[in-house]
Amino acid sequence: MHRPGANPQDMHPHDFLCDFCGRAWDGTFPMVEGHKGSLICGPCLSVAYTEVLLLAATPDAEHACTMCLEAKSTSGWHSPAIESAWICLNCIKQSAGKLHHDPDWDWRKPEI
Ligand SMILES: [Zn+2]
Ligand SMILES: [Zn+2]
Repeated sequence: MHRPGANPQDMHPHDFLCDFCGRAWDGTFPMVEGHKGSLICGPCLSVAYTEVLLLAATPDAEHACTMCLEAKSTSGWHSPAIESAWICLNCIKQSAGKLHHDPDWDWRKPEI
């Protein structure tokens, strides 16, 4: 998300916050953008990917995805820090695919 009150004409790195942990961007970790300025940071994505894709620890349930804004009834990841933040299976896969191939960041899909 964008920091509340940030000037859209003059955005700084710290005006970009992860929707899933609330951390402000400082340029030292990757962020993936969803719709309408929604963002997930690399560390949150690693946890989401591990819990949903590797451990299959999350049950299917109907939720609105914070990243694609669609109501989904697939498995997905609920942020432990921010009650309303949920990312669907598809967005986890897409975001992980994007970051995995981004030459600017040393982020890799977690493995067991
Ligand atoms: Zn985060
Ligand atoms: Zn989604």
